Amino acid sequence: MWKLLLKIFRTGILTEKRDQPLSQTHPPGFGKSLAIRHVDAGSCNGCELELWALENPYYSLSSGGVKFVASPRHADLLLVTGPVTRAMKEALLRTRDAVPGPSRVLAVGDCACNGGIFRESYAVHGGVDAVIPVDHHLPGCPPSPDDLLEAIHQAFGTSPPSSE
Ligand code: SF4
Repeated sequence: MWKLLLKIFRTGILTEKRDQPLSQTHPPGFGKSLAIRHVDAGSCNGCELELWALENPYYSLSSGGVKFVASPRHADLLLVTGPVTRAMKEALLRTRDAVPGPSRVLAVGDCACNGGIFRESYAVHGGVDAVIPVDHHLPGCPPSPDDLLEAIHQAFGTSPPSSE
């Protein structure tokens, strides 16, 4: 026990520090916090792995008042990953209809932008804008957490934090 504490004390904190928390400047029409409803329309889960990294202590998306919500009725931004599969088309349409305005749609990853590697599959409709209008596209397979952070802030009209 004492050995472990001594090691912790000697080693200190090794993770890099982001300079400042996320921007607190929220666009007009939105409340004090910004809410994202994520829909996986049929992804391989690669995009989700990068997306969940935003909740770790390094990126700490929620510390700037941006959070993921379970209900589309609480959402300001609909974030969609993956190509839209036939099985998910109806769910995506219903989720979009349940999001109150003003809201925005962000397509994340090559698959959500244009169908990606699944484009030719009989089981998919294609990218998200084959089913619903998209305001912002973030290509990449998968996009990095830094790119995700920037795209989310662009979609909200806020500034991402400095990474230095
Ligand atoms: S863009 Fe790449 S990582 Fe994301 S869902 Fe498609 S194949 Fe998977």
